[in-house]
Amino acid sequence: MNTSFRSGIFSLDLDVLKKHPVLDQLVRLFAQLQSSKMAFIDSTPFIKALELDNGVQQDSHEFLTLFLSLLEQSLSHSKVPGTREIVQHLFRGSVSHVTRCSSCGKDSAASSKSEDFYELELNIKGFNNLEESLDDYFSEEGLVGENQYFCESCQKRVDATRCIKLRSLPPVVNFQLKRYVFLPKTTTKKKISSSFSFPGQLDMGKRLSNPTSSYTYELAAILIHKGTAANSGHYVAHIKDESNGQWWEFDDETVSKLGLHPFGENLGKTSNKDDRKPQGISIEGSVTNNNNGHQEAASSSSPGEMFSSTDAYMLMYKCTNKDGNATESNKIMEFNNSLLPHHFLDEINEQNASCMKSCEEYQSKKGSHLAYITERRQEVKSILIEAPANPEDNSYFWISTDWLRQWADNITPPLSIDNGPIQCEHGKVPVSKLTSMKRLSAAAWQKLFSKYGGGPTLSGDDFCMVCLKDGAKNAVSADVYRDRKESFKNLAEAALAGSCSDSPSYFISKAWLTHWLRRKNAGILSDADNGPTSALRCRHGYLLPEHAPGAKRVSVPESLWLFLYQTISEKVDDVVTFPSDCQPCKICSQELEQ
Ligand SMILES: [Zn+2]
Ligand SMILES: [Zn+2]
Ligand SMILES: [Zn+2]
Repeated sequence: MNTSFRSGIFSLDLDVLKKHPVLDQLVRLFAQLQSSKMAFIDSTPFIKALELDNGVQQDSHEFLTLFLSLLEQSLSHSKVPGTREIVQHLFRGSVSHVTRCSSCGKDSAASSKSEDFYELELNIKGFNNLEESLDDYFSEEGLVGENQYFCESCQKRVDATRCIKLRSLPPVVNFQLKRYVFLPKTTTKKKISSSFSFPGQLDMGKRLSNPTSSYTYELAAILIHKGTAANSGHYVAHIKDESNGQWWEFDDETVSKLGLHPFGENLGKTSNKDDRKPQGISIEGSVTNNNNGHQEAASSSSPGEMFSSTDAYMLMYKCTNKDGNATESNKIMEFNNSLLPHHFLDEINEQNASCMKSCEEYQSKKGSHLAYITERRQEVKSILIEAPANPEDNSYFWISTDWLRQWADNITPPLSIDNGPIQCEHGKVPVSKLTSMKRLSAAAWQKLFSKYGGGPTLSGDDFCMVCLKDGAKNAVSADVYRDRKESFKNLAEAALAGSCSDSPSYFISKAWLTHWLRRKNAGILSDADNGPTSALRCRHGYLLPEHAPGAKRVSVPESLWLFLYQTISEKVDDVVTFPSDCQPCKICSQELEQ
């Protein structure tokens, strides 16, 4: 928690906030985080102001770089003294790239040039801890052989050394750990998931090109990237409250207290002072794993403490020296950091009041709702216990299984009993719907019916005899049809073979009859079936000439025609009869001849 940064942001004038929505939303976000009573703060308005697509995973390192430069740019418009350069004052340090001639010992002209940095990108591949990575970062590289350097003083190509020199340090140093290495072969990025250690306290003064002892930094925040893929995964932040040393984990809307350790306190361990390790000594050999991919080394905060993680992606260290001019953060410290900007105070108080109100409402609703649920459960239980009907006793009642299920499963029961779906058209209980209903004992039915009403009441005596008889009749007539069809099949085959000599005879479509014969279950007509003569009928309603397309016909004996007519006319309204002595349509015949 960077209170200097926060208080600087809080002191911005309304004018600059109006013109820069990102700053405005950042103030709101900080104000809410500081004073809201809600469990978590929705960052959507802030994300919107940044014009980020939150469906796309952002790399935290790229995000920080872009965000800081955006802030720097927006803040430059501020009229409040000291706020214009908060970002630079807090996060900006400088380095120079020094090339030194090995012959004359002089530095190149460019070596004195300072370059700003807002973070230091450290290699971690092959290194175990922060000190090793920093050694690597500031190490000397030899320029020899083909890489020799042209020295202006010596006026020739010479051996030289090149290194990065740390010129100045910001109050807050961000270390970007290069957990992702680019694999040229597959052009993909791979995550290095080896364990990496970093200290609770870090001396950066010795790294300066003019070493000094007054730069002691303390670990303030850790950004953790969970997941194995380079382009996806999940970010979690562990942040220290600098006012009391408490660590907190920020995992989306879940914020949890970690205690005095960045990776949580090991509760099973005694925090006896004698257990602490001597200051300044790395104690990686005695780490205990807290099963979270992280290891902690000691039970309480101490300067020599080391932490390690397989997922840490960014480390934030804050300078802790209080001796006057050492850090520029003091310039910003003059802002009253506990005071919220007055223009947001009302807004937040209002939010808090409405939050408290809905919490109270929720609590009271929760109480009455729980009581209601208990009551409902008891009701369902008491009726279902009595529900089974004695099979020998005829005084049972039918109930729709659907309705009973809805009544038993839902917290809010259906309004009234609905036995409609299990009734037949005669208002009784048909055999065909036995699977959709359940028997209820008279006692259970009375309880349900007196409470819910509806109906109709269908007792054990309410079987529908009409439906039962109809069902039987249909079954019988289907049998008769099957028998008759067998005998007509022979006639149909003879007709198709052209051997119908009966009189009178009738024309039907040859294609239709062929199809009818092939049908496995001729009793069932498809909806697409227009009957045996529809293909023979012209648009004037007469018989089509036989040479018209699709109008091939056969003569069938009267008995077969009547059988077909009877079956088809149940489904098709206007079946036309063409006796075999009828004449084809005159108009159609003429048209066809032309
Ligand atoms: Zn030289
Ligand atoms: Zn019926
Ligand atoms: Zn016609």
